[in-house]
Amino acid sequence: MTDLYRLLPEEMEEMVIELGEPRFRADQILYSLYYKFPKNISEIKQLPKEFREKLLENGFNIGSTKEVHRVQSKDGDTTKLLLSLNDETPIESVLMQYKPKKFFGHPRSTICVSTQVGCAMGCVFCATGQMGFERNMKAEEILGQVIHFAKILSEKGQHVTNIVFMGMGEPLANYAETFRAIQLLTHPRGFGIGQRHITISTIGIVSAIEKLAEEKMQIGLAISLHAPNDKLRQMLVPTAGPDSVEALIASGKKYFLKTGRRVTFEYALIEGINDTPEIAEELAWLLKDNGSHINLIPLNPTAGEFTRPARKNVIEFERILYNGGINCTVRVEKGTEISAACGQLRTDILEKYNNTIS
Ligand code: SAH
Ligand code: SF4
Repeated sequence: MTDLYRLLPEEMEEMVIELGEPRFRADQILYSLYYKFPKNISEIKQLPKEFREKLLENGFNIGSTKEVHRVQSKDGDTTKLLLSLNDETPIESVLMQYKPKKFFGHPRSTICVSTQVGCAMGCVFCATGQMGFERNMKAEEILGQVIHFAKILSEKGQHVTNIVFMGMGEPLANYAETFRAIQLLTHPRGFGIGQRHITISTIGIVSAIEKLAEEKMQIGLAISLHAPNDKLRQMLVPTAGPDSVEALIASGKKYFLKTGRRVTFEYALIEGINDTPEIAEELAWLLKDNGSHINLIPLNPTAGEFTRPARKNVIEFERILYNGGINCTVRVEKGTEISAACGQLRTDILEKYNNTIS
């Protein structure tokens, strides 16, 4: 079976021609996929019935992701979807909405997508890392998460404005499928979102960052640093190499030089581990004159023994960076009461459902 959502517009054209149909059938399918969000091939009403049947006979389908459960935060700004993949694997995706600045404006609607089921990187503070690695997700499964939300938003006259690859898994450890998903999302005849509206967050696979820089796309890059020195970083990210801090700073610079996009360093602040004033100073020295931005993320406590620093410690950490001339923000929290924080997906809902979703 091949999901029609897997095919890039050029591949869709090749496919319809191979099936003996005129080229414009590809446009009809693409229009339906990206504006009508059909759940299955029989819902592509633009196509003649015979061609729909031919598609089915030739092993095409739609629907690599199915909605199983939906939760919304009390303020309505955060929606979490539990989706089931074709092999019944449950995954989660989140929509975070930010009020429009202008009275008649549209809200900013950011979707946080997963790229792997589980993750092999083993970060000690991350729920996904503690789950271990199950499998890579296919491009159509990554795209499917955005499509579900696009459909929900379109029913309210709204649309997806931003996509962040910050859900479960390490996107650059699943490079080919992540990249195909980005092509589908940014293709003008595909989902059609601007490259600058997509951000990939990575734990820092240097060779893959360099490869992404060579694609010369305008995708935003966030590198999860978490520590200013290798000793501390290796404790938090057990799979990190012995020179990972230096290598990541260098790869961020290269990415900036190739793409013109400034890199953000993400830093999960963990009480008593990487949140002291001394460490803030070390971090300020490390990033001095680097021109990058640092995003502090006060830890979302998961099952592990790690906790979030007190508010005053977060402010102090931020102040030291700021005084050191570092461009720094603290992540605005969204949806914590429904465990919708990025990097913390699936666990709670699975516990609630006793590890099954059927
Ligand atoms: N694997 C990628 C993307 C997914 S994680 C990466 O690590 O960057 C997305 C972000 O959520 C990362 O910056 C990660 O450090 C952060 N994160 C993971 N677990 C977290 C937690 N418990 N609290 C706060 N941030 C967390
Ligand atoms: Fe994987 Fe990112 Fe979690 Fe680390 S923080 S285990 S890389 S998902």
